[in-house]
Amino acid sequence: MAYYTSASRPNRLNPLSKHYDLIAIGAGSGGLSVAERAALHGKRCAVVESGPLGGTCVNVGCVPKKVMWFGAGLAHALEDAAGYGFTLHGHDFDWARLKAARDRYVGGINDWYGNYLADSGIDLLRGTARLVDARHVEVDGEVYGADHIALAPGGEPIVPAVDGAEHGITSDGFFALETQPRRVAIVGSGYIAVELAGLLKALGSEVSLLLRKGHVLREFDAMLRETLMESMGESGISIVSSTQVEAVQRHADGTLGVRTDKGQTLGPFDTLIWAIGRRPRTAGLGLEDAGVEIDGQGFIPTDDFQNTNVERVYALGDVTGRAALTPVAIAAGRRLADRLFDAQPERHLDYRLIPTVIFSHPPIGTVGLTEDEARERHGDAVKVFQTRFTAMYHALSPHPLPTAMKLVCLGAEQKIVGCHVIGPGADEMLQGFAVAIRMGATKRDFDDTVAIHPTSAEELVTMR
Ligand SMILES: Cc1cc2nc3c(=O)[nH]c(=O)nc-3n(C[C@H](O)[C@H](O)[C@H](O)COP(=O)(O)OP(=O)(O)OC[C@H]3O[C@@H](n4cnc5c(N)ncnc54)[C@H](O)[C@@H]3O)c2cc1C
Repeated sequence: MAYYTSASRPNRLNPLSKHYDLIAIGAGSGGLSVAERAALHGKRCAVVESGPLGGTCVNVGCVPKKVMWFGAGLAHALEDAAGYGFTLHGHDFDWARLKAARDRYVGGINDWYGNYLADSGIDLLRGTARLVDARHVEVDGEVYGADHIALAPGGEPIVPAVDGAEHGITSDGFFALETQPRRVAIVGSGYIAVELAGLLKALGSEVSLLLRKGHVLREFDAMLRETLMESMGESGISIVSSTQVEAVQRHADGTLGVRTDKGQTLGPFDTLIWAIGRRPRTAGLGLEDAGVEIDGQGFIPTDDFQNTNVERVYALGDVTGRAALTPVAIAAGRRLADRLFDAQPERHLDYRLIPTVIFSHPPIGTVGLTEDEARERHGDAVKVFQTRFTAMYHALSPHPLPTAMKLVCLGAEQKIVGCHVIGPGADEMLQGFAVAIRMGATKRDFDDTVAIHPTSAEELVTMR
């Protein structure tokens, strides 16, 4: 853990500058939610933002990604239509039209947030924030005081230090693409890599996925990653595993070639997307001036209550390095404001049992321990129920996607500690099951629940 000691404090605090109960740095999921809840509790708040309102999720994350995923789903549906008796007389896909519609949708959300902040009496301070000390924030030369400061600056995509890396783009660049790349290399094995690979393929690009190791989604249950890799392969995505990119070259015709550690040259590609991870956006934030600690990777560690090592300075969202998901940042922000301003001293986010969905093809929904984690922790006390089938929808479609489900149960009462689903509908299926599991549901509770027929989800309450 690195520790910054305070250097000389800038002596330019303007006594006329505003003072707030709370300043949130970053108008993304975390910053907006803590300020919004604090304002509801009657507090005077400001949010500082240097970019568009809504942060990563709204502008270059969940929202535009999901729009593209819906588009990809329609491409699949068009292929499936023949099995249901439709004769389609050709169709075109216009990437630019989809992007323009997507941008309009995102722009509407940006505007909505602007209006919402104004209506809620939250000041929006436009510019780049820097901590002057633990009670003052400078925004483009103006200094503001606060009793509490919430750090929610989020993260940014990592570009590796290899020759020619600048010829590639990141997920941010993906959302800026005005035309559809015909041949795409995606480097990475995490959820962003597999989501982009799946939707680009469905929309008609040729996709190569370059993995450093043998698998995608290394931290997820083996059943999920194996089923997904099988599906990706069958869809025509070229998976190049155990490969490290050593250099990217731009050829005279504008295409890209990738040199690997195996001495291969892959390509040509029109676009290369780095999806190798994200790092916290803490550079220039003035953490050292406020004495805020960061860890070896630049994340700001917090305790269970979002406290940093400095009193009344908090961190939430992706910058903490814990469960980098929008609802996690939102939940942490709301609970923090409840704790600080609504006399709920024990209110905090429980980071266990966080459900998540991967918008791959097919989608994944997962919550709790993987089978490997459960066996490592609990050995023979673990019992696993598993099933695999083809969803009824695909009985008539030419390219059936698999569905696989797993329940990880613990002890004599078979308490469910993990639930993993891959298959059409998994994205909408998991939320309710996550509630039940959080409430301590057992396999018996699942079995005693009457199934909804005919659905894929019913398999989760009928597994033997
Ligand atoms: C491609 C992609 C897809 C994703 N899909 C999903 C998904 O499907 N579901 C899901 O739950 N999560 C998803 N995520 C993750 C999700 O977007 C993040 O977890 C979430 O946005 C984190 O919120 P945050 O408030 O911590 O940070 P952010 O949303 O990144 O907000 C931080 C804000 O702070 C601003 N900022 C930073 N530094 C300063 C400064 N010094 N001064 C002023 N402003 C500053 C930034 O401009 C930014 O607007 C996705 C992410 C990516 C990249």
